[in-house]
Amino acid sequence: MSSTGMTWPSASRRIPEMEYTNTDSVPESGAYVCTSCGDTQEFEAGDDFVICDACGDESAGWEPQVTEGAEEGLGEEER
Ligand SMILES: [Zn+2]
Repeated sequence: MSSTGMTWPSASRRIPEMEYTNTDSVPESGAYVCTSCGDTQEFEAGDDFVICDACGDESAGWEPQVTEGAEEGLGEEER
């Protein structure tokens, strides 16, 4: 075996934060946040992302909305 020194070319090209452009198709149904104005829109899997309705920025992308504290009872303290 000979190692060429290349280490996972596909992995290094991956960006840590998932961001989709308006030419990509939706991988998963759910809410996505516009990276330009922060507006939230819902997309369905298989559909194509569209240019943000709120800001109309063609260079803007879409990030999956992170829902923190989805489980009730963990974030709130009962007294
Ligand atoms: Zn926007």
